[in-house]
Amino acid sequence: MLKINDLHASIEGKKILNGINLTVNAGEVHAIMGPNGSGKSTLASVLAGREEYEVTGGEVLFEGKDLLDLAPEERAAEGIFLAFQYPVEIPGVTTINFLKTAVNEMRKYRGEAPLDAAQFLKMVREKAKLVRMNDSLLKRSLNEGFSGGEKKRNEIFQMAVLDPKLGILDETDSGLDIDALRIVAEGVNTLRSPEKATIVVTHYQRLLDYIVPDYVHVLYKGRIVKSGTKELALELEDKGYDWIKAEVEATM
Ligand code: ADP
Ligand code: MG
Ligand code: MG
Repeated sequence: MLKINDLHASIEGKKILNGINLTVNAGEVHAIMGPNGSGKSTLASVLAGREEYEVTGGEVLFEGKDLLDLAPEERAAEGIFLAFQYPVEIPGVTTINFLKTAVNEMRKYRGEAPLDAAQFLKMVREKAKLVRMNDSLLKRSLNEGFSGGEKKRNEIFQMAVLDPKLGILDETDSGLDIDALRIVAEGVNTLRSPEKATIVVTHYQRLLDYIVPDYVHVLYKGRIVKSGTKELALELEDKGYDWIKAEVEATM
């Protein structure tokens, strides 16, 4: 589904990604971990196509297509979803209106007819039920005055409605309470399927107690310096990152 070859990227002239290689197949959940500042959010942002980042080398193929040629909205329409680290608040725009516009723009790009109000509502109600999203949140301005848990549930709900092939979640390094973590995990697990894949970016092992990844990768200084299975996350929880840093420094 996703193939990243020797990806290099900079922000404001500063090199952040220094040759990322990663393959994600349908049905898999990959966790990206690593110390603060290692480039995790940069990688997620580059995949989503955020414009502040400059790709300086390498390629990213999504279902064989060159992703880096596509605008962010085109990537979304191809089936990539990024749940933002700090979800934006949009006063005056309800979640439901925001999503209706997003869904119909994606359908247009794919050459599909837009959903009318009734079709959209039916779909949205089904998805809300699936991820246990309260109807009253749908009618409130996007994220405005939402609690941490409500924002998380809303992100998962957006992912359910947009129904991406590849969901990328970039979790905050702090401030997520255990309930919010559970909401995210439950949502990801509910939406897991053999046709889809998820990349979970996280600083903490805790989330991976609930979302059991197929693969765990450690990003350090803009490179994936170690990959393993869920046991690697447990080892990191136990030993921290210093041993990995030492291994990397020893080979440089
Ligand atoms: P992580 O998510 O692993 O904590 P980031 O991808 O957020 O790491 O950041 C990687 C590096 O890029 C850090 O050194 C950070 O300071 C730098 N960086 C991130 N965003 C910007 C920006 N907008 N301007 C300048 N430097 C940035
Ligand atoms: Mg960070
Ligand atoms: Mg980050």
